[in-house]
Amino acid sequence: MKLEAECGSFVIVGGRICLNFLNTQVRKPRGIVDLISTPNQLRQWLVAANLISPEASERLSRQWQEGDNGRSARQQTVELRAFLRPIMEALIAGQPVPSASIERLNSVLHENPAYLTLRYDEEGRFTQEAQFDTDKMYDWIPVIAQDTADFLCHADHSLLKQCDGVGCIRLFYDTTKNHKRRWCSVEKCGRQAKAAAYYRRTKEAKNEGVCP
Ligand SMILES: [Zn+2]
Repeated sequence: MKLEAECGSFVIVGGRICLNFLNTQVRKPRGIVDLISTPNQLRQWLVAANLISPEASERLSRQWQEGDNGRSARQQTVELRAFLRPIMEALIAGQPVPSASIERLNSVLHENPAYLTLRYDEEGRFTQEAQFDTDKMYDWIPVIAQDTADFLCHADHSLLKQCDGVGCIRLFYDTTKNHKRRWCSVEKCGRQAKAAAYYRRTKEAKNEGVCP
């Protein structure tokens, strides 16, 4: 099963909207880097994460050319991210989720009431989808908040994991059959870890061959 989709510079590997969103922060040798540090990067990520269409991104680009619209959209988006991360970190650590984060999440949900649409597909399956009747420019904010609420209520939190890669802070929801997924991306962190393990093994083998 393919676990990831590379979209431009974004690696969409979280398996959930809310986790993909948190993965817009990565750790590099120089520290935490924000992959959506400009309005344009935010638009590109929204398309990569399938939250807006390329056409909607073009529309936003035009709307954001003047004034502070783009900066304000980005600011509101990263504010949401800042209080979602402690929720996921607490779940991974088995600690209580900070009530301040739940309060902030609730205020976003209350400002953007959703209505549920029931769908019945050709294979006889029922699904419910939250939709938002909003004229606001930042439609993705309630979608991310709603996905977080859904994740908290219905997901198996023991399958929420942080990548085992050295220094990697990407999060993912492990939906693999045996639940043994360890890396955000086999191509990135997985390969690096295997190379490091091989290096260690060959070094040990060499050391064993040397008389003390
Ligand atoms: Zn990783």
